[in-house]
Amino acid sequence: MDEVFNVKDFHVNIKDKEVVRGVTLQLKKGEISVIMGPNGAGKSSFANGLMGHPSYETKGNIVLDGEDISSLSADKRSKKGLFLSFQNPVEIPGVTVANFLRTAVNSRKEKGEKSNPLKFMKLINEKMELLHIPVSFSSRYINEGFSGGEKKKMEILQLAMLDPKVAILDETDSGLDIDALKKVCESINILKEQNKELTLLIITHYQKMLDYLKPDHVFIMLDGKIVKKGGGELVKQLEEEGYKAFR
Ligand code: ADP
Ligand code: MG
Repeated sequence: MDEVFNVKDFHVNIKDKEVVRGVTLQLKKGEISVIMGPNGAGKSSFANGLMGHPSYETKGNIVLDGEDISSLSADKRSKKGLFLSFQNPVEIPGVTVANFLRTAVNSRKEKGEKSNPLKFMKLINEKMELLHIPVSFSSRYINEGFSGGEKKKMEILQLAMLDPKVAILDETDSGLDIDALKKVCESINILKEQNKELTLLIITHYQKMLDYLKPDHVFIMLDGKIVKKGGGELVKQLEEEGYKAFR
């Protein structure tokens, strides 16, 4: 399979502190890869840096589907097909889920091909049905009064609507009870089934999520570096021995 995401010697600095210290990884089209690491390992900084978050100073190369995106702004990276879901999504009172997503979807299209409200509603309803999200969801204000599970649903719906090539999911499991976690993972699996080429980089610091998603590769991150790369067996080793086994 082809390589769709290639990160070379990537560094992230926050206020003169180097929190990601030379990470290199390749993702092939359609694969599910997981980065695991304790709190403070630099996982979110890595994800934000890859996305081009303006407050993270980065160094290194990012090639998405053959194109170097390292010097592009976050919105351009998004248009090229990179997606990042947030660990702590913000509330936007007054803006409905549907309006937000229509703006997001249309902002990546050329003038002539922007979807009109009717066409858009058809698309969002299809995706919500696919993901077992009730129709009323689209007229709620973004994240306002959302439960942990609903916030994650919002992220997954956004992923479904934007249809990226590579999606980075940062701690999609945080704040979820076990049933909500299972549902979110089911939704991710549904999207994967629909689009076999979707490439996922899942960031997590605990193993539960990996009972439901079967990763092709597992990377262990400690102190801003990938210290170990392997398969599902690493998850098991981590469960039994903790991160100290990798220090
Ligand atoms: P993880 O996601 O693995 O828990 P982070 O990337 O959030 O780790 O954090 C890595 C390191 O960078 C930590 O030491 C954290 O304190 C520091 N850090 C992250 N964001 C900021 C920030 N905005 N300002 C200062 N330090 C930060
Ligand atoms: Mg984090």
